[in-house]
Amino acid sequence: MNTDYLIIGQGLAGSLLAWELIKRNCNVIIIDNGLENASQVAAGLINPITGQRFVKSFGIDYLLPTAKNYYEELAYTFQQSFYIEKTMIRIFNNNKESNSAIKRLDQADYHPYLGKLDTSPNTLNNICSPFGFIEQNETGYLLIKDLLACFKDFFITNECYKQATVAYQDIQIEPLIKWQDITAKRIIFCEGYHSGYNPWFSWLPFQLVKGEILTLRHTQPLSNKILNFGNWLIPLDNQLFRIGATFDRENINDLPTELGKSSLIRSLQTITNSFIEIDEIKHQANIRPCTLDKEPFIGHHPLHPQISIFNGFGAKGSLQLPWYTQKFSDALLKGTPIPSAINRYYATHFVT
Ligand SMILES: Cc1cc2nc3c(=O)[nH]c(=O)nc-3n(C[C@H](O)[C@H](O)[C@H](O)COP(=O)(O)OP(=O)(O)OC[C@H]3O[C@@H](n4cnc5c(N)ncnc54)[C@H](O)[C@@H]3O)c2cc1C
Repeated sequence: MNTDYLIIGQGLAGSLLAWELIKRNCNVIIIDNGLENASQVAAGLINPITGQRFVKSFGIDYLLPTAKNYYEELAYTFQQSFYIEKTMIRIFNNNKESNSAIKRLDQADYHPYLGKLDTSPNTLNNICSPFGFIEQNETGYLLIKDLLACFKDFFITNECYKQATVAYQDIQIEPLIKWQDITAKRIIFCEGYHSGYNPWFSWLPFQLVKGEILTLRHTQPLSNKILNFGNWLIPLDNQLFRIGATFDRENINDLPTELGKSSLIRSLQTITNSFIEIDEIKHQANIRPCTLDKEPFIGHHPLHPQISIFNGFGAKGSLQLPWYTQKFSDALLKGTPIPSAINRYYATHFVT
């Protein structure tokens, strides 16, 4: 079987890239091992203003409109909503945070993202907010698991999906890429954190971060808004919600832990004492493919240009991937420059 692109990994990165290339009339085959991945566990949050200093995410002014359009088009195609826009209530942890937010309100370029400010203590229903809060606009979350399920059905129907674990030693790279009965012009690795084991790309400076998330049910109806209090709470319906996520740079595995769970529950208790009767529905863990300079890793192997990588979307895959997918597809098909290209590390990190 001949194909243009052999894509390894059906997480959000591999799925969107395969979809975009198919839309552009390319032949694609996508291989995935079928295990639960970071994309399926992720909350899919998109939050343009982050941190204690309320800083706009780099590139938000072009990344966000591209992402929203892309997910809208996908919703139309699959007749199902994937991106849920929801206001976020950012609860201040101290006066320093409220002062930073007040300053941002003076900056016109922050206006689309910031809403009502209230610095009086505890004015939210059932929520402790001793330093007040600000509403954040243009926030929401992507239902990544649902989207990946639709993509998988589409790929299977179009006979371009195979469930298998690709062993690197089984890949022939000269004169053409060959794996099992598939011959490809190019192989693109979209393996998330697994790239750390990839013999062609393990030299890239990944900084993997484990995260844990809880899905809980509460007997009382919840706020319909996303809460952000250092951790976040996403209401899925009246009673079901997710809280997360932990950041662990030491224990790089996908095992949920009691420590992770208790730190999330403790964090939740700082904003409310009404969450007494909660049932645990799910406790999940996975690994974010973060990078040293917080930029994705995109491009071609320095010695084997037919071997490529599309990875390193860290904790921002939902926001970044639609834009980067389009730009990388342009680069592959039209020879335009690759954004966040890995050639920035050729001289410093690649050893022959
Ligand atoms: C706890 C947690 C919370 C997060 N929260 C958010 C959030 O709120 N917002 C946000 O935007 N992002 C969030 N993220 C990050 C988000 O998950 C990533 O940015 C994005 O999903 C990465 O997608 P990916 O396709 O690169 O990797 P993955 O989703 O990990 O997909 C890689 C796929 O490749 C497969 N694979 C790898 N090697 C092989 C092989 N040799 N053979 C076959 N298959 C292979 C894997 O099994 C997997 O299916 C979170 C991540 C975690 C872990």
